[in-house]
Amino acid sequence: MNFEADHRDNPEYFTPIYQMALTQFNQAVKLLQLPEDCAEWIISPDRCMMVSLPIRMDDGKLRTFYGYRVQHNSALGPGKGGLRYHPSVTLGEVTALATWMTWKGGLMNIPLGGAKGGIRCNPKEMSKNELENLTRRYTAAIFPIIGPGKDVPAPDVGTDSQTMAWIMDTYSMQTGFHTMGVVTGKPEIMGGSLGRMEATGLGVAHTIAHAAKKINLPLEGATVVVQGFGNVGYYTAKFLQGMGAKIIAVSNSLGGVHNKNGIPIDPLHQHAQEDRQLDNFPDTEKITNAKLLSLKCDILVLAALENQVTEKNASKVNCKIYAEGANGPTSLEADKILEEKDIFLIPDILCNSGGVVVSYFEWVQGMQSFFWETDDIYKRMEKIMNNAFEETYTLSQQEKVGMRTAGLMIGIKRVADAMMVRGLYP
Ligand code: GLU
Repeated sequence: MNFEADHRDNPEYFTPIYQMALTQFNQAVKLLQLPEDCAEWIISPDRCMMVSLPIRMDDGKLRTFYGYRVQHNSALGPGKGGLRYHPSVTLGEVTALATWMTWKGGLMNIPLGGAKGGIRCNPKEMSKNELENLTRRYTAAIFPIIGPGKDVPAPDVGTDSQTMAWIMDTYSMQTGFHTMGVVTGKPEIMGGSLGRMEATGLGVAHTIAHAAKKINLPLEGATVVVQGFGNVGYYTAKFLQGMGAKIIAVSNSLGGVHNKNGIPIDPLHQHAQEDRQLDNFPDTEKITNAKLLSLKCDILVLAALENQVTEKNASKVNCKIYAEGANGPTSLEADKILEEKDIFLIPDILCNSGGVVVSYFEWVQGMQSFFWETDDIYKRMEKIMNNAFEETYTLSQQEKVGMRTAGLMIGIKRVADAMMVRGLYP
């Protein structure tokens, strides 16, 4: 494709993770038999914005950070996607994540496009005051391209409801209008939806329960390993434990804990709030992240970052259900290795879509200033995700392709159809 050739020399853009998003797209699009010129139009991001963010740090020094907002596609609706604060953020990473948001919205059949933002920084080493200044400056910088009908950020790795509150406030102060619909994942007091906090993890648990039925695996007593103990990992583990599963190992970026008889999740979470070092938790053995990924279990949940299972460790994965709570945790080479095994893979754009689905509900509620009950939210979310799961499963059986390719085909096709019927302007 020209698009690849045109951009290959830009090292910040053309990162391995972006290459991965492109290759996945190429594989799926071949099966859809879309004309080459349309494929290039669909994969090309609508708009990428890069901003410099000068911040006065607490020690009085000035520091300049770099931020991005990529709007990949808006054929189905305004851009939608998280905002990530992490030292590894690059234009390529944000573009890959924005591209996956487009397919995720398409697969869920919700009226939203795909976008993503990020700032290269280490939020764990910054004070609340510095993070507030950074967030407000970023909001001011990307102000012209965001808004309820344009592009709606949400939390992602390294950001939370407080971050969203600062964005909403900065945006509203600048426009002079109270604008709830500019972000989702807000605190409840500011129009945050009930259920949004736990939505991604709950959705991951639902898709696992759905997959377990397909392979006749009883959840009662099923063994679970969770990589990543942020918002997604914690709620996934909590809901799976509630469904009767046994969480035998959990890790975060500092290391992990293991107990073959099960680990109580709420006390572990409580512990992690006070001491990020999980391995001080009583009645557990210490385990490295590498070892954890090769533990024999029924369900392996990837809820950390991208590129965790690669050609180096994929052959050691020993589970029945492989659930991608994170975006892009599996490299292309690892995908091939996993396909050879008897593993039910739930791809990221299906598995972790609970977050964006409830974000969609929050956006709707915000624009109507009318709020729904938690039960309603859970029920509607389950329905949307179940439909997408069944559609993906059916296509994967029909076309004899993996769940990832099937999910991508559905998402891409929906976006392509919308683009074709809208046509070109001018
Ligand atoms: N960051 C989440 C994701 O990757 C949520 C996005 C949203 O709620 O808009 O799906």
